[in-house]
Amino acid sequence: MQTNFAPEALADPAIATSETILRSCVHCGFCTATCPTYLTLGDELDSPRGRIYLIKDMLEGGKPASPEVVKHIDRCLSCLACMTTCPSGVHYMHLVDHARAYIEATYRRPWHDRLMRAVLAAILPYPGRFRLALGAARLGRPFAALAGAVPLLGPRLKAMLELAPAALPPSPRQTLRRFPADGPRRGRVALLSGCAQQVLDPGINAATIRVLNRHGVEVVVPEGEGCCGALVHHMGREGESHGQAARNIAAWTREIEGDGLDAIIVTTSGCGTTVKDYGFMFREDPRWADRAARVAGLARDVTEYLATLELLPALRPGFSVTYHSACSMQHGQKITDGPKKLLKSLGFAVKDVPEGHICCGSAGVYNIMQPEIAGALRERKVGNIEKTRPEVIAAGNIGCMTQIGKGFADRGRAVPIVHTVELIDWATGGPLPAALAGADVMLQAPQAAGAT
Ligand code: SF4
Ligand code: SF4
Repeated sequence: MQTNFAPEALADPAIATSETILRSCVHCGFCTATCPTYLTLGDELDSPRGRIYLIKDMLEGGKPASPEVVKHIDRCLSCLACMTTCPSGVHYMHLVDHARAYIEATYRRPWHDRLMRAVLAAILPYPGRFRLALGAARLGRPFAALAGAVPLLGPRLKAMLELAPAALPPSPRQTLRRFPADGPRRGRVALLSGCAQQVLDPGINAATIRVLNRHGVEVVVPEGEGCCGALVHHMGREGESHGQAARNIAAWTREIEGDGLDAIIVTTSGCGTTVKDYGFMFREDPRWADRAARVAGLARDVTEYLATLELLPALRPGFSVTYHSACSMQHGQKITDGPKKLLKSLGFAVKDVPEGHICCGSAGVYNIMQPEIAGALRERKVGNIEKTRPEVIAAGNIGCMTQIGKGFADRGRAVPIVHTVELIDWATGGPLPAALAGADVMLQAPQAAGAT
């Protein structure tokens, strides 16, 4: 694609990077075939190619973002299916991230939009606040339909209330920060404890720690780590996302330079995509660039890291599992077969979801901010999962788990959804994942010697 930036504009490294990305697009349109918003809305401006043109026009002209551009960029899920499809290697993720930050800097959103975004940014990255907010939302759930009638805010309020779980697992009140390996130590890793996931399903981090310890890996949760910054990063709130990322980089660097780390383990693939991008995010910041690149180089999805270990033999017979591959896993991190291979090696029969490359509509806070499109994508995803006759669904991203769970609940169906690592933990000796309690699958009682 030809571009026409003024030399002064190209002095800005962010513009220069985006210009390089823009020039790599040959506007062939292959990406439109796998873009969930184009498939749903059928508007070229809601396709990757259309958005690339809008971004080019906005950045080239050096003008403030227009309501039209904001509408179509806001509708993008950042699912990155377009990056998997693109034959020219267009780095759409970095381009749309830049566009979002540019929009945030140059466009004044309507008050209701600003309010909703500010509330989400102030609550979601902080587990204590998120837990309180979910408690309040639980009380408000019966009034979701009424909330939907509130002018301007209604659809988003309704979506927020409906997504809140009916009950929350108790807070683990975990104060330990070091979990020694069982037996001789084979490795030492840091675990990103995260934000929303540890509130919605603390069993995922617990299973991760158990399974790593069981395989001889010491786990640390360094003081000072927290939200990876992805939630606000996708809102274009660069200052906040960089602040959250920098706190993690500082915390993990202390460990790297102290007792050393073999990896930084991430159990939510959306967060993993962001942590792996820290090097790019801080590339122009001499204070952080080296440390950020080092941290990014150590980041691993938990299944990636487990694949480097020789897993203990399964202690229980596996069962049939429908595997949902999150967009951030398959498109963001290019992790496709690894999690399925681990499950199969432990005796699970793994089923793929038809149209597995299409987003479920979760995408961070997208299912709150764009409830109609997210709802249509959720229906499409749940319909495709139904085709596999699922007994248990496994995924590696809490956002997808919540979104798909709501889709099944809307259909009056209760199919258990677990994190992949919970199944690996259970198969190698851990307790039954909470979601499987009472599930109608062939589950054996724990074997006394292996149970932990
Ligand atoms: S597939 Fe790649 S090169 Fe073709 S239009 Fe889409 S982004 Fe551009
Ligand atoms: S990231 Fe997803 S929604 Fe956005 S343009 Fe690419 S394929 Fe479409």
